[in-house]
Amino acid sequence: MPDAFNLEAHADAIDLVVGLLARTTHAVVLAGAGMSKESGIPTFRGEDGLWTKHGEPPLNQFETFASDPQRWWERRLEDGRNDSFAQALEASQPNAGHVALAELEQLGIVGHLITQNIDDLHRRAGQTSITEIHGNRYWLRCLTCETRWPREEFIIEEDALPPTCTQCGGVVKSDTVMFGEPIPPTALRRCSEETAIADCFLTIGTSAVVYPAAQYPVDALRRGVPLIEINPEPTPLTEVATAVIPGPSGEVLPSIVEQLRDRLGGGRAN
Ligand code: NAD
Repeated sequence: MPDAFNLEAHADAIDLVVGLLARTTHAVVLAGAGMSKESGIPTFRGEDGLWTKHGEPPLNQFETFASDPQRWWERRLEDGRNDSFAQALEASQPNAGHVALAELEQLGIVGHLITQNIDDLHRRAGQTSITEIHGNRYWLRCLTCETRWPREEFIIEEDALPPTCTQCGGVVKSDTVMFGEPIPPTALRRCSEETAIADCFLTIGTSAVVYPAAQYPVDALRRGVPLIEINPEPTPLTEVATAVIPGPSGEVLPSIVEQLRDRLGGGRAN
């Protein structure tokens, strides 16, 4: 077990963050794989990351799907997905960081969450205003009209693959955005709109190197919006952030929420 993060040693940074959030009414959050590490899901990059240890996967996944969607679906239905990453996702539960972030939404501080995670844990923790910019492992999506369905609500006929959209007849694939696949334009539009009205921006558990997601905090900073980073390791944003708490989100976020509740008492600072 790693040592618990020393919150006391970062009391000044936490105090600064609590002060900023107490005046915030529409924070936008960019979350990444680090948020779910304490739920037992490995990250890709960073210390112990899957790619750090094993190298990057093939970058032509979408090309493979698009060239023969029927074959892709046949394989998916035959084999399922049962590697160690899939097993970790199946076994995972929201951690204290997911729960605290959902509380920041309920307190009227976080207005929108852009998550790069596909694991559904934010939703399961109670977050409601979410853009899953890389999709959701438990959903399906039409490639033509972008309609999305929870996987268990969509009937897949095994003798009529690939499945097609009930609205427009387009090809349906897993919602997770594959390597080489364009991010659905509706998701990108929502992220830009939310970033444009953010009065504070938080990056949590992301290496902030995957674009276009990494562009949103930069856009907010350019408008003079304070930027808060929560990540045990430095990122390209660390030097320009207004406040940095270099600890795990599952410990840092609950502490922030607890202190915010004390500070706000019955009402908001503004
Ligand atoms: P990343 O793997 O590139 O980086 C993870 C970051 O999390 C690192 O900077 C690391 O220092 C930080 N981190 C590690 N432990 C942490 C903790 N306890 N608290 C806070 N931060 C912690 O992740 P990324 O930037 O999100 O990008 C990788 C891509 O991989 C994403 O696009 C995502 O779609 C996908 N992915 C998703 C999941 C998931 O759904 N849980 C998991 C792995 C990868």
